[in-house]
Amino acid sequence: MFKKLLIANRGEIALRIQRACRELGVKTVVVHSEADRDAKYVRLADESVCIGPAAPRDSYLNMPAIIAAAEVTDAEAIHPGYGFLAEDADFAERVEKSGFVFVGPTPESIREMGDKVTAKKAMIAAGIPVVPGSKGALSDDPAEIKKIAREVGYPVIVKAAGGGGGRGMRVVYSEDALEAAVSMTRSEAAVAFNNPDVYMEKFLENPRHIEIQVLADGKNAVWLGERDCSMQRRHQKVIEEAPAPGIDRKLVKKIGERCVEACRKMKYRGAGTFEFLYENGEFYFIEMNTRIQVEHTITEMITGIDLVQQQILIASGKPLPFKQSDIQFNGHSIECRINAEDPFKFIPSPGLITNWHTPGGPGVRMDSHVFTGYRVPPNYDSMIGKLITHGATREQAIARMSIALSEMVIEGVQSNIALHRDLMEDENFKVGGTSIHYLEQMLAQRSAK
Ligand code: ADP
Repeated sequence: MFKKLLIANRGEIALRIQRACRELGVKTVVVHSEADRDAKYVRLADESVCIGPAAPRDSYLNMPAIIAAAEVTDAEAIHPGYGFLAEDADFAERVEKSGFVFVGPTPESIREMGDKVTAKKAMIAAGIPVVPGSKGALSDDPAEIKKIAREVGYPVIVKAAGGGGGRGMRVVYSEDALEAAVSMTRSEAAVAFNNPDVYMEKFLENPRHIEIQVLADGKNAVWLGERDCSMQRRHQKVIEEAPAPGIDRKLVKKIGERCVEACRKMKYRGAGTFEFLYENGEFYFIEMNTRIQVEHTITEMITGIDLVQQQILIASGKPLPFKQSDIQFNGHSIECRINAEDPFKFIPSPGLITNWHTPGGPGVRMDSHVFTGYRVPPNYDSMIGKLITHGATREQAIARMSIALSEMVIEGVQSNIALHRDLMEDENFKVGGTSIHYLEQMLAQRSAK
């Protein structure tokens, strides 16, 4: 096992990785920007290095500064967390070339899955169902593009191969809008993602977002159940739960096994997530995330497996300590992302937290780096914590979440606690299985009232 690991991230995930390291007896180095100097996890780390000003490109995206910090502190491995450089194949490559271990997949895997066209091809080869669409990147021939769209059937969605974060896609409802949509997406993609390739998919109108968690060691792989992340606003997940309510267990198992097969085929290493849209009883692959995800916690709650520790163990060269038959699912778990923002207008609300009180009790977990007196910087994502509950049943997990939310106190900044409280009382959420459009529809209805 490593003696020392460098955490190239901030906020709750920096603290989460630190906790995993501490349990494994690994010392930690935290790199931070000037804006995060006073963070609790910076003080708690064995060592810390300031790598630059608040702007992400000067600090958390500054590869030479991060690698230099690893060099001066004698760290052996670098954990990228999520966001920032976590899915940057060039960063993974530079980390390895500089003699450190990257806690994550190989640069080749990151690259292959980061290009959605090559990722989709790899999934088809592994027998994973994908959204019907073009065979690969679209050509420049308008007649051919029209032919593909007619075969797929309108509406279609034109997507950038290098897209991410919900950017670089356009829905097209009829042929007259197709050519313009393709060329606009193409030129945007060339600028934003440095890759002009675009592809086409059938646009699914009312899907749910269901994803499968995997762990793999380069040879073997296991799947750790699914998560339903359909409660979204502007493609940002707001609430996640595991397992997904109302989906045939046999079908989930079949998809999970295919994901494991895909991992074996590409000799995948580390934690990963296969994202699917689910509609009318069918799964359709959309992309793979080659990193730990924000919502990994709910999988930990229902499997009892520490995913961040497993990432580190795998990176240190240890084989997976379990077989598929060892993975047991227990109860139901829900995560509410706590953001410093206006609960209904969603405007970020950075600033000083004057009072912070977190809930507790059976089945309640709070992952957060925040404390009374902490100043939420304006430079980063507005997520300040994750409230997670676990129960024997979905009803119990929801009841525990309602109680936990009522105990939670945040003063000084606005938070989305009120929105989460409303959602826990929402009749359709209580039934379960709402689509990715549900939250936005609900918010639109409210503002119309
Ligand atoms: P990103 O990497 O930007 O997150 P994804 O491919 O995961 O891109 O797509 C993001 C979101 O866009 C999905 O969660 C879904 O809401 C929507 N989307 C993508 N592809 C389709 C599709 N074929 N039909 C309907 N919605 C889609």
